[in-house]
Amino acid sequence: MVNTALLNGDSVNYEKTGMVSKVLTFSCVDGPGNRLVIFLQGCNYDCITCHNPHTINHCDHCGDCVAHCPTNALTFDDSPSPKVIWNEPLCTQCDKCIDVCPSKSNPKITLYSVQQLLDLTKKHAPFLSGVTVSGGEATLQLPFIIEYFKAIKGTDSLRHLTCFIDSNGSLSEQGWNKVLPYLDGAMIDLKAWQNETHLWLVGRDNHRVLNTISLLTQHNKLHEVRLLYIPNKTDLLTEVDAVSDYLKTLPEHVQIRLNAFQHHGVIGEALTWEKCSKTQMEEFEANLVQRLGRKVITPSIYT
Ligand code: SF4
Ligand code: SF4
Repeated sequence: MVNTALLNGDSVNYEKTGMVSKVLTFSCVDGPGNRLVIFLQGCNYDCITCHNPHTINHCDHCGDCVAHCPTNALTFDDSPSPKVIWNEPLCTQCDKCIDVCPSKSNPKITLYSVQQLLDLTKKHAPFLSGVTVSGGEATLQLPFIIEYFKAIKGTDSLRHLTCFIDSNGSLSEQGWNKVLPYLDGAMIDLKAWQNETHLWLVGRDNHRVLNTISLLTQHNKLHEVRLLYIPNKTDLLTEVDAVSDYLKTLPEHVQIRLNAFQHHGVIGEALTWEKCSKTQMEEFEANLVQRLGRKVITPSIYT
């Protein structure tokens, strides 16, 4: 839990805004307990296997999606600058706009101020253990996250809520150091072991990810490491000795979660890849657990 004494004297910029693609007011899979989850738009990875590819790029307001909306929930405003406006009450979430977007983006973005998000958090607080910011890659909007977490820790009725980040681990040490005073925990993805495999899968190497895991461990803020298993594509099984030796160095309380590659939401080349079956996941789990000597979390559903 964050030491609230650290927060004395901190002022909060309640007007700071963030680009939010979705808010879940209740989730039990995005960190411990019941959580409010805020999905922020934008990502610095371009994962072949991304199951939310429309969260990667920012909308450039080209307007191509407007005519495809069957409920007129999208309109184009040309002044003072070209802008697509989303009218949420008219939206049926059919996602036709996402399907036609040439930029792999999403016009359904809401600009939330810290104050608006704080009000939403207060409304749901009686049912929550904490809040999680996710993405896209949440830490691309770090100043907004910091103000939001500061606001929670500075509000008597919300201070008990834990503040978590779900991240691809690409944030620099300098960036993590800015948010650490307000952070209770983080979930980090380790998508491949060999640097070349990671680079091929996500478009960036994994040095930052390993540095992030190490830094968060030092500060006792690492909640979970997630491994994405893609049979015959990722190197987590062929490198299982090295992976388990590495995971053994993490404290016992850090959860290891195995995610199975599925096709839901995926576009492009990865749709031709084999999905991870329950049997394949059990094989990977058995190999890992035998070497690791501790339990890991596996998916309960395979599509
Ligand atoms: S969501 Fe895509 S298609 Fe629609 S305005 Fe933005 S960039 Fe253009
Ligand atoms: S998801 Fe909403 S905004 Fe997009 S096309 Fe469907 S109704 Fe229109």
